[in-house]
Amino acid sequence: MNKLIFEKHVPDSNPFSLPAAQVPEDDIRETIPEKFLRKDAAALPEIAEVEAVRHFTELSTRAYGVDSGFYPLGSCTMKYNPKINEWAARLPGFAGIHPYQPENTVQGALQLYYEMQDMLSEITGMDAFSLQPAAGAHGEMAGVMIIKAYHLHRGDYKRSKMMVPDSAHGTNPATANVVGYDVIEVKSNDRGLVDLDDLRAKMNDEVAGLMLTNPNTLGLFEEEIKEIAAIVHDGGGLLYYDGANLNGVIGVARPGDMGFDVIHVNLHKTFGTPHGGGGPGSGPVGVKSLLLDFLPIPVAVKKGEKYSFDYNRPLSIGKLKNFYGNFGVIVKAYAYIKTLGAAGLREACEHAVLNANYLRHQLRDNYNIPMDRLCKHEFIANSRKQAENHVSTMDIAKRLIDYGYHPPTVYFPLIVSEAIMIEPTETESKERLDTFIQVMQDIAREAIENPDLVINAPQNAAIKRLDEVTAARKPVLKWEAR
Ligand SMILES: *Cc1c(COP(=O)(O)O)cnc(C)c1O
Repeated sequence: MNKLIFEKHVPDSNPFSLPAAQVPEDDIRETIPEKFLRKDAAALPEIAEVEAVRHFTELSTRAYGVDSGFYPLGSCTMKYNPKINEWAARLPGFAGIHPYQPENTVQGALQLYYEMQDMLSEITGMDAFSLQPAAGAHGEMAGVMIIKAYHLHRGDYKRSKMMVPDSAHGTNPATANVVGYDVIEVKSNDRGLVDLDDLRAKMNDEVAGLMLTNPNTLGLFEEEIKEIAAIVHDGGGLLYYDGANLNGVIGVARPGDMGFDVIHVNLHKTFGTPHGGGGPGSGPVGVKSLLLDFLPIPVAVKKGEKYSFDYNRPLSIGKLKNFYGNFGVIVKAYAYIKTLGAAGLREACEHAVLNANYLRHQLRDNYNIPMDRLCKHEFIANSRKQAENHVSTMDIAKRLIDYGYHPPTVYFPLIVSEAIMIEPTETESKERLDTFIQVMQDIAREAIENPDLVINAPQNAAIKRLDEVTAARKPVLKWEAR
């Protein structure tokens, strides 16, 4: 088992050799105050180079990612990201440019930026995009700020509330709050969809709009979206689309056609850009023409054959990010869209939906599926059957680690108890899905025959169960000599 590099320290092994000094030695004690001078030698580990290389190489294999295995994290779209996207982002003409370079020296980059705005508009059915926001939640904030700017610009000062369904991603109510709205929760009905009666009852002239994702976080398509849009619009509100689940409809249906006024998309989920570990991501925000003037600046424009950034937008909500957003991420997404083309994007969506439904169908004998009908790119199971043997969703997730699988999203969405949220994505083969199904079936059998095995999982992992709250609130990230 791996040890910390400090514990591998071999005293006086003297593994390094420094080049001879090329300047005369100087006694710093003469120039530096006493209190800054070190009394004892630094406690640095001494270890042979090859052992140091092995140490860090071994550590690197403990990081789990899409490139090491199946990663069925629901509401995250952890798909395989083609390496050609990385190649494109590393091209010197993109990676080496300076943000203060004159526009006439970066016409190619500006063209890509401009075309990306256009392609996203076409894919989503919106009229214009700004690529500024740095992540999904940042895009949400931009979108809700736009809604607020729109109402205030019309002199409609009464609207202080934002509606959010109870199935929503946690960032939605948080965003509404950050932008200064009180959140009104809209109930889901027993089919897992927005309850229209509840929506009607809560829509009034104090409500700025509704934030919705479609397919929703249960992986279900809001079939009554036209009716939902009519209720919100008739009440004077606007409809916000959380595009993080676009993988479930891309190429087939467009939020713009469903009646949404403002949306964000997650380039790092739907458009083949890696994410995890905090980014960098990209959450472009798109609007219908009535909100055009409020988009964050700058927006790339084309005049004749020349591309430039337009900052002259007096009603804009302003600048949200230094320079132009996460440009490298935008290049990757551009490469992804150009590689697949329109037909390829549709095919990606169809395979994502097919894969999710295949898993749902194959797992339904062993796991409870609360809404067991056609889903989009993800579906929810739970551990109700395993509860008879006191095995919980957390136990199943931890047992998956023993089998070398990253667990799905668990305990979300909150409206399903003990939720197990599985999103396979389109990039997994049938063979891979079949091995995952086999493992899930094996765990279900273990939960009956030997529940302690599952309850005490992981059995084989380097780190057992953490106190996750303490680990997050008081992380211990560095080694200290005892
Ligand atoms: C991931 C996600 C977000 C937030 O996106 P980030 O880039 O992580 O900020 C918002 N809504 C939904 C439904 C998501 O899945």
